[in-house]
Amino acid sequence: MILNDFSLHGKVAIVTGCNTGLGKSMASGLARAGCDIVAINRSDPLETAAEVKAQGRRFLSLKADLARQDRLPSLLERAVLEMGRIDILVNNAGIIRRDDAVNFSEQDWDAVMDVNIKTLFFLSQQVARQFIAQGSGGKIINIASMLSFQGGIRVPSYTASKSAVMGLTRALANEWAKHGINVNALAPGYIATNNTEQLRKDEVRSEEILSRIPAGRWGRPEDLMGPVVFLASKASDYINGYTLAVDGGWLAR
Ligand code: NAP
Repeated sequence: MILNDFSLHGKVAIVTGCNTGLGKSMASGLARAGCDIVAINRSDPLETAAEVKAQGRRFLSLKADLARQDRLPSLLERAVLEMGRIDILVNNAGIIRRDDAVNFSEQDWDAVMDVNIKTLFFLSQQVARQFIAQGSGGKIINIASMLSFQGGIRVPSYTASKSAVMGLTRALANEWAKHGINVNALAPGYIATNNTEQLRKDEVRSEEILSRIPAGRWGRPEDLMGPVVFLASKASDYINGYTLAVDGGWLAR
């Protein structure tokens, strides 16, 4: 039965930044496919916990500020201690800062790069070490962006970080495929979350964006559920280093 290849029963996934938005939806989608969830957030993700537990899955909430990397080893240790193993990592936590490039501050540069790419790399490194020790492979799914492919406007550190996410996805896939570790990325298009609130409030920009989405609507967090389950499952075992757009056709225009 081919659908068995999409099942995540008995698997454990770490999802970062899953108290809201895409992370919440992806954690819920993974749980619906049978996966237990380790959530890493700044605050307790109460709604996500309820959704995961409603699926009969285990849920471990770990608190951390992912702008810093010093606690990553102890977070992973705790996750393995409580859940027994790790099979999947979804590097979702991310931030955006908007300003004209001529005025852009070092603070806004560093804040975005720390969460969106530096922590993504060092958490992936910790998890890959665990996958290698377990000896049964694993799945890493990074959350990229349309700005992994395009330049964007007034978001220079975000574009730099998300372009780096796509490059690093390829680089890590090359090194770790021999261990049975698949490293891939999802590039969401324009999805209605906190991240895009400012854009959606700007009537002119919002209309410009909507008018070039072939699907004719902004994305919804649930649109990421199927793709994340696919990349987390055996069904995608021969996909390595690829960034899959989930964009209603935005990049096809
Ligand atoms: P969101 O609603 O703002 O969620 C971002 C998540 O990251 C939140 O859980 C947030 O936690 C967490 N986070 C940020 N900084 C953190 C830190 N220092 N430590 C711990 N957690 C931190 O935005 P979203 O749209 O769901 O974004 C999720 C991912 O998708 C991001 O990587 C974003 O760049 C990417 N993305 C989004 C879109 C879109 O259209 N929405 C498009 C392309 C890519 P708090 O709630 O505590 O801040």
